[in-house]
Amino acid sequence: MQRALIIGWDGATFDLIRPWVEQGKLPAIGKLMKSGTHGLLRSTMPYWTFPAWTSFMTGTNPGKHGIFDFTQRRPGKYELEFVNGGQRRAPTFWKILSQANRQVISVSVPCTFPPERVNGVMISGFDAPGIGGRAAHANAASMYPSSLKEELDEAVGGHPLGGYMAIELKKGHPQRVVDLVVQTIERKAATVKHLMANKPWDCCMILFGESDGAGHQFWKYCDPNSPLYTEQPSGLRDSILEVYQALDRQLAEIVELAPPDTTVLLMSDHGFGGVSDSVLYPNCWLREQGLLRFHGRTAHWKSRVLDSVKLRAVAMLPLRLKRALIRYGRKGLGNLESQVRYGMIDWKGTEAYFEENPYYPMLWVNLRGRQPGGIVEPGRHYEEVRDRLIDELESWRHPESGEPIVTKAYRREEVYSGPCVENAPDVIPDWALHEGYSYAFKLSSKSPDLAWIERVDPKRSENIQYFMNKSGTHRPDGIFVAHGSPILEDHVVQGARITDVAPTLLHLLGVPIPEHMDGRVLGEIFADGGAGSGPVKKAAIETSLEPDCDDADTNGAYTAEEEQVIAERLQSLGYID
Ligand SMILES: [Zn+2]
Repeated sequence: MQRALIIGWDGATFDLIRPWVEQGKLPAIGKLMKSGTHGLLRSTMPYWTFPAWTSFMTGTNPGKHGIFDFTQRRPGKYELEFVNGGQRRAPTFWKILSQANRQVISVSVPCTFPPERVNGVMISGFDAPGIGGRAAHANAASMYPSSLKEELDEAVGGHPLGGYMAIELKKGHPQRVVDLVVQTIERKAATVKHLMANKPWDCCMILFGESDGAGHQFWKYCDPNSPLYTEQPSGLRDSILEVYQALDRQLAEIVELAPPDTTVLLMSDHGFGGVSDSVLYPNCWLREQGLLRFHGRTAHWKSRVLDSVKLRAVAMLPLRLKRALIRYGRKGLGNLESQVRYGMIDWKGTEAYFEENPYYPMLWVNLRGRQPGGIVEPGRHYEEVRDRLIDELESWRHPESGEPIVTKAYRREEVYSGPCVENAPDVIPDWALHEGYSYAFKLSSKSPDLAWIERVDPKRSENIQYFMNKSGTHRPDGIFVAHGSPILEDHVVQGARITDVAPTLLHLLGVPIPEHMDGRVLGEIFADGGAGSGPVKKAAIETSLEPDCDDADTNGAYTAEEEQVIAERLQSLGYID
């Protein structure tokens, strides 16, 4: 019987990998590409880690699985809450394989907290709260079965959730950051090596988030063409390469441990590229279109002060964290984050607003009955506002170059399908690049004179701070590499999408593919007569929307303190500001 080993490199891109492979710097992936099939893997919209990996594990679009971002709107409020795997509304392939009596191992895949009761083991990804402060190890609640915690403590000294690169960078220890990242890669790999050797498995997966973190943090040190490029601190010029090389070494070692009947899939959830020194303040632009109104100066000021309090609140000392929590009535950072993002918007004069996250702002209509201060009537009025938004977005131009700022704007039902579409933002912009680099996004409360665009000086201290973990960002195309006896050698696959991986994997393992999956079997990657090349089997399966974790009472809901830990981790990665 076929087995599958899946290795995820979060945010890995062929733009970096290809030249390094050609220079012989990444021998393991180079070998898999040459003697297997590879190609671009199109991510979800937005091309962000949680929706993308969830589409990977369910074979469905976000309209079916319900995960659109790291945060989601609290029903009936303008507040945000953090998202984790507990909110997923479609079954994962681990569950489907388990029901088909296949044994699975899953390690560190984002958006898998709380862990599922699978036929095998599951260790959650970085949405798990973890223990041990900055070192952040996965705790027993992040593992299924929970007894795995003790076993891993003994065998490999515990399983790391990921380091806090930003903290060491701020302290001015750049090489130490790279060393920490490399160590984390080695320690995560130690976990999967232990599990591969000691547990039976048909499908084993390990995800490394370090390629993504390195891209966010180190791009400006490695790309001399970047408008944010800096030679200081020295010693980081090859930092992203060093991280990829550590991943490549572990790839070789992990593949080596797999039995010969194993098909290896190496993939990422999206690509990566550089960030521009052109900053957009999206809600300031909406204001100029007459679609949004701000309160007076006081609210502007209040929103700024809250932001600085929040930064201090996540600045790592437990005592400070607790004080901040008490001060904000134990509502946690989700609420604080919403105050910072929305505190200065005057809802009575606002028809639409951007959810101003620092990576991929999307648009909400301020709808009566859905938003507490909604002024747009459902039905015709709602459609008129969306039509107008799309027109305005698509004619939005850079003031100097005249180039589009948004390539195209979509109504949510044009991008998503399924029962969760109504949880999606109303309009999804496809943000254009500026001179080959992604726009940076800042909160409108920080805009000088409420201007919607600003070219910033990356050498100024507040910008050094801002771009610390945001000099690189996501691109829509990730990587896909497949290697094994059923897979074509030296072949390039075109048009693969992240939702195609789950059905392809089930097909490879001889398990019927649920009809609700949106992806297709990548039949063209299989060699004739290979084990995976038989007819595609489809099945109607029960799509359970019930929580499926050990702790069904809370279904992974975070406590206030856990919410702080998650906030700190997301902030370290640049996902909240
Ligand atoms: Zn990612």
